[in-house]
Amino acid sequence: MPIYEYRCRDCGGVTSVFLRSMNSPDPTDCPACAGGVLQRIISRVAYLQSESDKLAQLDPKYHKMVDQALGQAPANSDPDFHLNKMVPFSRAKERGEPYFKE
Ligand SMILES: [Zn+2]
Repeated sequence: MPIYEYRCRDCGGVTSVFLRSMNSPDPTDCPACAGGVLQRIISRVAYLQSESDKLAQLDPKYHKMVDQALGQAPANSDPDFHLNKMVPFSRAKERGEPYFKE
């Protein structure tokens, strides 16, 4: 059930109108000036995206970067391999070190 926006040709007022279906007849009278002719205008739309849709739209370069980063970890290594290379924010800030050791 769509909501359409109309602009009055006479007074320029914009009105949102809820229509029961896409085939419903357009409203004719402007509620602001009670006489003007309404014209349907294109309004902004918003839509919800699922997490899988968001993943599908990720830049393919991102997957290559992840594969490359994972490929640098030694096979059958410690599961905390990457974790052990990280530096706590407090210590890095204190010493001016990067947050991640190469
Ligand atoms: Zn009007």
